[in-house]
Amino acid sequence: MLSLLMQQKKIKYVFVVGGVMSGVGKGITTASLANIFKYKGVSVTAMKIDPYINVDAGTMNPVEHGEVFVLGDGDECDQDMGNYERFLDVTLSRDNYMTTGRVYQDVINKERSLAYGGKCVQVVPHIPLEVIERINKAAAKANAELVFIEIGGTVGEYENLLFLEAIKMLKYKNPDDVAIVMVSFLPSAFEDGEVKTKPTQHAVRALNSVGLFPDIIIARSHDGIDSIRKSKIASMCSIREANIISAPNVSSIYDIVSNFEKDNISATLAKKLSIKLNKKQIHSNPIIELSDKIKNTKKEIKIGVIGKYFDSGDYTVSDSYISVIEAIKYSGYKYDAKVNLSWVNSLDFETKDKISLASSLVGLNAYDAIIVPGGFGTRGVEGIITAIKYIRENNIPYLGICYGMQLAVVEHARNVLGLVDAHTTEVSPKTKHNIIDIQDGQKDKLIKGEMGGSMRLGDYVCNVKPKTLAHKLFRNKKIVERHRHRYEVNNRYISDLESKGMTVSGYSDAGLVEIIELDEHKYFIGIQSHPEFLARPGSTHPLFDGLIIAALKK
Ligand code: GLN
Repeated sequence: MLSLLMQQKKIKYVFVVGGVMSGVGKGITTASLANIFKYKGVSVTAMKIDPYINVDAGTMNPVEHGEVFVLGDGDECDQDMGNYERFLDVTLSRDNYMTTGRVYQDVINKERSLAYGGKCVQVVPHIPLEVIERINKAAAKANAELVFIEIGGTVGEYENLLFLEAIKMLKYKNPDDVAIVMVSFLPSAFEDGEVKTKPTQHAVRALNSVGLFPDIIIARSHDGIDSIRKSKIASMCSIREANIISAPNVSSIYDIVSNFEKDNISATLAKKLSIKLNKKQIHSNPIIELSDKIKNTKKEIKIGVIGKYFDSGDYTVSDSYISVIEAIKYSGYKYDAKVNLSWVNSLDFETKDKISLASSLVGLNAYDAIIVPGGFGTRGVEGIITAIKYIRENNIPYLGICYGMQLAVVEHARNVLGLVDAHTTEVSPKTKHNIIDIQDGQKDKLIKGEMGGSMRLGDYVCNVKPKTLAHKLFRNKKIVERHRHRYEVNNRYISDLESKGMTVSGYSDAGLVEIIELDEHKYFIGIQSHPEFLARPGSTHPLFDGLIIAALKK
């Protein structure tokens, strides 16, 4: 393994670590830095290391940990991987994501297959070496000369010690090829009070205690920091003032690329790593273009998102649906409209009080379009079905994603086909009309308790039926979309559905229903996959574009 390190000398590494506290933008920092270098002509890739034991993010509650992002190869990973794909306009793979659990699992499997040739396998050096091997593999796969690696958590935590150890081992072999960027936070005890540098000093000391020094400090604070604060951090942490980047709060995350460059971050980092940068951007940077567009867009449209997680506070909601939010925004800006998103709690449609139910339903007319995103389980489902009925009957533009598509089919079966007890077996396992049913092969997995990474995941081809809304939008007979589900439309009901105003406009190669639409409606489409994972600032997704166009007409 050490020989592997020697071979790949040309790769340079930027590690992004957290100081003081988490949640101050390591992911967006990593994505923005990689973006800056990419558009200055450097071949880059980005990786995330999550220090938890979970092998992937798929088994975690999105309300607590944010959205589970799905890659084309089916890896269920942290939402930051979505930020990297969007900021870099690339497709990443499971090689770009690791957790403590994944690293240990591989080391143990290797040991079981005698890959260590009879050696005693130890936490150090074998775990950090495995980490380094994975980083080099991801860099080689992306043909990257510069790899950005975000380490989850903050320095000083027990959990990320082994990853810091990996940095140390890499640095020892290649001192000039490794840079460390620490994302820190400068708090103030009072509004408009002085921002304090002490926690940053302590965080740098915590990094020093494992033998590492930051090359760049991203000093996050409410309003940015002045030269007095910079010189204080510089003298206390023995770092040049020029290497401290003022990072004020911004109204849009897409401003960060330009903000970092105000403090010359790319030049400083390039100098440290002896990387040649193009003086100008090699071609237009979609992130900078989006950031400008956001500032200059005046027209607003209102889109409602109906779901069940919305009673847990705004912060959680936006983290749980980050890809849907970004995807719809990108399409909005494409058509010069700022999307004003509202969270509509599906439990509002489950009330027994007829007057308040009617007022919640009528309230849906306030939106120019409605989205029902993916989801799992029973809670709030009846409310969503009631809302979809209203949306169908009142010609409100609708996009149903995954569960949002399945529940639109349930609604149609109940209220148009007259199968009053139609349901998904996810909610009602014994229903007579199992219009949405568990996929072949999934039942066994549930019985055996094989829950991790076992859904229908990642890329599958969908064949789009000509002369349908889907075909008009995709302009393609074959599309590939990312999936994450256990249930599917029961094909026994397709002819009944199609005789009553619903068309199946996309099938997988194996015959699974991928897209449905209503024949008589302004815009009503549901998709089994997750189009939000493919939307990028410079290349929006046709289904979100279609929703915006329909919303603008409304
Ligand atoms: N719960 C549904 C299923 O497993 C939908 C999943 C989703 O929306 N991602 O099939």
